[in-house]
Amino acid sequence: MKLIILGAPGSGKGTQAEKISQKLGIPAISTGAIIRETVAEGTPAGKAAQKYIESGNLLPDDVIIAMIEERLAQPDCSNGYILDGFPRTLPQAEAAEKMGIEVDKVLSMEVADSAIVERLSGRRECEACHTPYHVLFNAPAKENVCDKCAGRLICRKDDEPETIQKRLNVYHTQTEPLKEFYEKKGLLVTARGHEEISDTTKEVFSVLGI
Ligand code: AMP
Repeated sequence: MKLIILGAPGSGKGTQAEKISQKLGIPAISTGAIIRETVAEGTPAGKAAQKYIESGNLLPDDVIIAMIEERLAQPDCSNGYILDGFPRTLPQAEAAEKMGIEVDKVLSMEVADSAIVERLSGRRECEACHTPYHVLFNAPAKENVCDKCAGRLICRKDDEPETIQKRLNVYHTQTEPLKEFYEKKGLLVTARGHEEISDTTKEVFSVLGI
């Protein structure tokens, strides 16, 4: 299975990508997570990326396309993968086709903007293994400690209130047109994001037929 997940920031892409990854045994590839790793390395490229992320803007298409090309060449991608956060613009979608990326389905996660703000402000992430959590909807067993690796949970800088609206605007103007792009190709399926993660996962598995 090769899958693209589209959705606004905070729509549950990362969480559902993990669930699908566990069920199908294929890697979930998050461009956001790869970029955050580069930022953590503190290289000049990382510092440049940090400016885009923290302002809520997208990185340039050519940077992202090179990153994806390199990641998909890794052996763990040979049986399929889940693309979480790529493509995010029409030029990226066109580049994906040119690269020969042929996906079986494109899943769009549908969540109202009003719910997004509540979700993002409570979102946390393990600074070591990047497992996503939420203080209300997906809390770890021990406050601020990752269930998987005991790493420390942090709030992403781009989940701060002033950046959230900016990221929503970027999503609606640059990424949402991809729904029509993939719908015309007969690849688009949609799932609503519910308050309970398990309800969302049930709908996601059902629309994907897995
Ligand atoms: P995410 O974790 O998917 O919300 O991504 C966090 C940030 O990384 C985004 O707000 C962008 O700044 C950047 N980013 C992630 N994926 C892409 C992409 N495909 N194209 C451009 N920028 C991206």
